[in-house]
Amino acid sequence: MELLQLRPEGIYCPLGDFYIDPWQPVPYALITHAHADHARPGHRLYVAHKKTAPILRLRLGENILVQEVEYGERLLHNGVEVSFHPAGHVIGSAQIRVAYRGQVWVVSGDFKIEHDGISSPFEPLRCHTFVTESTFGLPVFGWKPQHEIFQAINRWWHQNRVEGLISVLFGYSLGKAQRILCGVDSSIGQIYVHGAVANINQVLEGIGFSLPSWKHVQTNMKRKDLEGSLVLAPLSAVNTPWLNRFQPCSIAMASGWMQLRGNKRRQALDCGFVLSDHADWKGLLSAVSATGAERVLVTHGYAYAFSRYLQEKGIEAQAIETHFEGESPTSE
Ligand SMILES: [Zn+2]
Ligand SMILES: [Zn+2]
Repeated sequence: MELLQLRPEGIYCPLGDFYIDPWQPVPYALITHAHADHARPGHRLYVAHKKTAPILRLRLGENILVQEVEYGERLLHNGVEVSFHPAGHVIGSAQIRVAYRGQVWVVSGDFKIEHDGISSPFEPLRCHTFVTESTFGLPVFGWKPQHEIFQAINRWWHQNRVEGLISVLFGYSLGKAQRILCGVDSSIGQIYVHGAVANINQVLEGIGFSLPSWKHVQTNMKRKDLEGSLVLAPLSAVNTPWLNRFQPCSIAMASGWMQLRGNKRRQALDCGFVLSDHADWKGLLSAVSATGAERVLVTHGYAYAFSRYLQEKGIEAQAIETHFEGESPTSE
């Protein structure tokens, strides 16, 4: 029997009787991280890293049942050993390792290789079968070092400030927003955040995270209150009245999708910064090779193209159908 298999509810371990990031309600769910496509409502028990747990409660309700685990801690389910290991994707994100009688599987969840300074750095794990994401699994996706991207963001913000414009930067409220907050030069001006980002920031500060100074955009604020400042907002605020009251402003997005020029135009952005919390093409390949896996199962993103490439390299690879969504250019 396979250690993990695909069920209508999600990725399932029949021996241990648990699911990993299931998309339908189940009794026992191991959760890689708190993004909505991985952490869905309705499970009886959530098992997650201790930094993910408070974000799950924020997003899914205070009354959910969460068992908190530390990286590397071993849990036993009917003799199946389970442990969580850093995925470097967002704060608290984990790869989940499942082992039984010498057989090891690793489910990557979402991951990135470059250390972002706020998430625990990605930990390469050896395994027999690796279930990997492939959000950016095409050779066209190659990231520059993040300090170059932050220099470009600083230049954009500074120039807007000189011109009396508000700089509005869109990115995921969990992960991307905090990475930008910590990465930009906060001496340029004040940083404001949308309510969705403020909620996450507060939860993280509540568990001891220290973030550079930020302020919440209040509903009664006028354009002139924000002039020259940087505003961090979730993708859901694109083209909303919330945004339009700040016009004229300079609008930008931080996402791996900004590598494709058409996306910037389609979203009517003034600027696009290629900054992703997912591995790029080379990162995916290096992660696969570091596992030493005999078999690779490829999920969300360019699963068919990426698995075909691995097959050509002599690795047994296969695309599998999941309900994970990767990094969407428009929704969170
Ligand atoms: Zn994610
Ligand atoms: Zn995902």
